[in-house]
Amino acid sequence: MYRCVRCGRPLTSELGVQQLECECGSRMFYKERPNMKKIVYAI
Ligand SMILES: [Zn+2]
Repeated sequence: MYRCVRCGRPLTSELGVQQLECECGSRMFYKERPNMKKIVYAI
């Protein structure tokens, strides 16, 4: 699951992340994992 870096809103889709934009306008997301966090930058 991806979450918005700015507002923490979860994203339901993991497909097409590069085309996603949060409702807050942020395009930076991080992927939640049990042992790590992976930052994903959607340009
Ligand atoms: Zn957001």
